Amino acid sequence: MGFLTGKRAVIVGLASNRSIAWGIADAMRREGAELAFSYQNDKLKQRVEKMAADFGSTIALPLDVGQDGEIDAFFDGLGKHWDGFDILVHSVAFAPADQLEGRYIDAVNREGFRIAHDISSFSLAALAQHAERAMAGRGGGSIVTLSYLGAVRALPSYNVMGLAKASLEANVRFLAMDLGPSNIRVNAISAGPIRTLAASGVKGLRQMLAKVEAASPLKRNVSTEDVGNAAAFLCSDLAAGITGQVVYVDAGYNIVGMSFDEPAASAG
Ligand code: NAD
Repeated sequence: MGFLTGKRAVIVGLASNRSIAWGIADAMRREGAELAFSYQNDKLKQRVEKMAADFGSTIALPLDVGQDGEIDAFFDGLGKHWDGFDILVHSVAFAPADQLEGRYIDAVNREGFRIAHDISSFSLAALAQHAERAMAGRGGGSIVTLSYLGAVRALPSYNVMGLAKASLEANVRFLAMDLGPSNIRVNAISAGPIRTLAASGVKGLRQMLAKVEAASPLKRNVSTEDVGNAAAFLCSDLAAGITGQVVYVDAGYNIVGMSFDEPAASAG
């Protein structure tokens, strides 16, 4: 029996079998959870339905988190399958491509800032409003989102997405405070770089991966399996005392002040 047996998990952010959401779904399924999925648009519908079926789920519903109407319709639709759920995975972020290259100060503009914060941070609160109601009848629940080091450190190309992740991490703390009395826990995983569709939009991903491999204590990059296992733990009763946290799953890279093992910057 897995440590999520009897739990129902809603996974928002599955786009491909490289998605972090895929790693999370895989770990949660292995540990016995029932799964439901969203897909962002018609382009992803068939692919997500197929992956859902592979995970033993018949629930895949449309959800663009930028549209209030779609958020309402998603949870209405979900309510036809389930009378409540225990876990919400928020694995969604977006910024226009022109925001994710060059100097932050040159790239940032009002529209790019607005979109990055709306899709990547506000959406967590919007989904949590529905999750609170859906988890009420289940004695509580757990929400997990995905952040990145750019929330707390300046680094190349990540630009306005770093600001959006800082907002997301603050969002986690405010939601954890409000939802704690209902026994709903809210945490973030700050994952190391992983080659996914979203990450490919950040210029310099190859150098980032090389840097982490050279400088991290574990001397490697992390996988969606590493992140999935941590998310499954955080959303299980094994983590009942943990809320409002940002847990780093990054091979330890964030703790390093300096490393002499790195290749010269010119080699990247
Ligand atoms: P991904 O491209 O596989 O997933 C991103 C998901 O966001 C996709 O499913 C996409 O459909 C969804 N999305 C974007 N805009 C949306 C919208 N308006 N409505 C609904 N869904 C929308 O990439 P990923 O790397 O798995 O990203 C998942 C999360 O992990 C993101 O929050 C990302 O910032 C975070 N993260 C990724 C890395 C990395 O290196 N890959 C590292 C740390 C954190």
